[in-house]
Amino acid sequence: MIRLSELVPPGVIRRRSLWIGFLAVLIPLVVLLTLQYRWLVDLEQKSGLASRAAMGNFLDGVANKIEYTYRSEGERVLNVPPSLLSENKFQKIAYHFKKKHSRGRSGTVHKALFVYYFAEEKEARGLYIYDPQTYSMVKTYHEETESPQDRALVRAAIAASSPWWVFHSEGSPHESAALVVDERDPRNRVILNPITNDEGLVLGIAGMVVDEAFFRSAVLETSWLKSAPNCEQDGEAEDLVFTVRDSNDEIALSNGRLEEGEEHVRRAVPFIFTDWTLGLSGLYSSPEQLAQTTFAFNMTLSLLLALFLISGIIIALRAASREMYVSRMKSDFVSNVSHELRTPLSSIRVFGEFLRLGRVGQDVKVQEYGEYIESESRRLTQLINNILDFSKIESGQKLYHFEQVDLATIVRDTIKMFEVRLKHNGFQLSFEAEADLPSLPVDSAAIGQAFNNLIDNAVKYSGDSREIRVRLAREGSHAVLSVQDFGIGIRESEQDKIFDRFHRVSTGLVHDVKGSGLGLSIVNHVVKAHQGEVTVESEPGRGSTFSLRLPLAREAAVEREQPEAGGQPAIARAGSD
Ligand code: ADP
Repeated sequence: MIRLSELVPPGVIRRRSLWIGFLAVLIPLVVLLTLQYRWLVDLEQKSGLASRAAMGNFLDGVANKIEYTYRSEGERVLNVPPSLLSENKFQKIAYHFKKKHSRGRSGTVHKALFVYYFAEEKEARGLYIYDPQTYSMVKTYHEETESPQDRALVRAAIAASSPWWVFHSEGSPHESAALVVDERDPRNRVILNPITNDEGLVLGIAGMVVDEAFFRSAVLETSWLKSAPNCEQDGEAEDLVFTVRDSNDEIALSNGRLEEGEEHVRRAVPFIFTDWTLGLSGLYSSPEQLAQTTFAFNMTLSLLLALFLISGIIIALRAASREMYVSRMKSDFVSNVSHELRTPLSSIRVFGEFLRLGRVGQDVKVQEYGEYIESESRRLTQLINNILDFSKIESGQKLYHFEQVDLATIVRDTIKMFEVRLKHNGFQLSFEAEADLPSLPVDSAAIGQAFNNLIDNAVKYSGDSREIRVRLAREGSHAVLSVQDFGIGIRESEQDKIFDRFHRVSTGLVHDVKGSGLGLSIVNHVVKAHQGEVTVESEPGRGSTFSLRLPLAREAAVEREQPEAGGQPAIARAGSD
């Protein structure tokens, strides 16, 4: 049976599973967002309609109260018993009006109360207006009324009552006892109640001429105020403007200023004053605008949350992917190091055996094998040093001891240790040093190790080339130590990464060369601890130049740790990177 990991590289499988995880979260999130969007759009439409309906309900409430005020007053006051008309008992009618009509603080609903009597005798027939001063019914003739206002009032009362004469004269029974409104004269609107006897015959009309001033000053306001608490329960009252427009569309009453001049919801006043309208509007926006704003707010909130969620997922996935990468690097590291250890060890063992068995006759050969053993054990020491240093750097325990030293000496000593290896591998190494380079404050062991790592790499990655150039020069306030080889080189995309711990270029010739992936990360750490920097210039197939730039003098902040002149060397600790 063939395993999937044998067909597809493990890195690809891991990446694929990360992507699957990401999509498994992303797809439901997108579905959820889409559903929420549709739901919010729906809600936007409905909440616009709903707040319009709520406004309409409020206006209906006000309208009902106005109607109730007039109907209840009309039904109570105009309900004159027919017996009083037939027996011509006008004084009693006056008494009925006096007793029944209600008086508010700012006046009465009506300007005038009257009875129109359809008597058979001509003298008795006509309009009788109630006089509240004398509590009597006064027979009134249109032509005899002097003031124009009163004439208009009388005319309106007669005009409203007269049509009922037809019912009376025909003798046909009138069954409906409902109140009737006549609004032909907007200044003198009349509410009428036909007075019928037991047979339904219309004997006369009881009526009231409605007072517009009272409607404006008392009825509207109290009806509105009585409805307002219901509206406030919804928490919207303070954001609403209530308006009443009269028959000329002028604003008669309002609790605020209309923003756009138009109410959002309007209702005609029912029963009487039917050419007046009640209106309600949002103080700043229409219900639709309000719904849109709420929609935009909710949508932005959802998108922001989704964005946070996606960012969180991406961060988590990146961390997971990084962890995977590091764990892969670590397992590679273990196998690479084992390999690195095994090769010199087996050489040492073989050469050691040769020597023990005395198979080597010539002194030259003995010396050669000895050199091999020495050089290989140096490599081993170097590798172990790298591992130990790396672990110190990682745990932040790496200490540096700074002393004024001649860099060229360190370089020469290190090159010397490589002599055998270079000779056996046929390498030409040249070293050029600027003559008057001053000594500088460095940790000789650390810098020696860093330089050692660079030479080691130059040897390892030289390919077919056998030339290495080492230069030491001064550049301003820095000493620059560079190692140049003419080997396989490094792609530009890899040049930053090679300083990361465990990182090894995974394609091309490098595959054949063993290494731990720690060398350059240690170089980088050492150089930073010296306040310097390491740079690389490289071209694939042409070779690489690694340069260490080290300051000739340490900066003041670090200088504080320097001992008194001639005392112990300075110690600095550099954290792991
Ligand atoms: P390693 O033990 O693998 O040599 P290093 O940290 O020293 O680890 O180097 C990291 C990687 O950088 C190497 O695996 C190699 O791919 C690349 N590299 C380092 N030095 C050179 C060089 N002189 N020429 C080409 N590639 C190099």
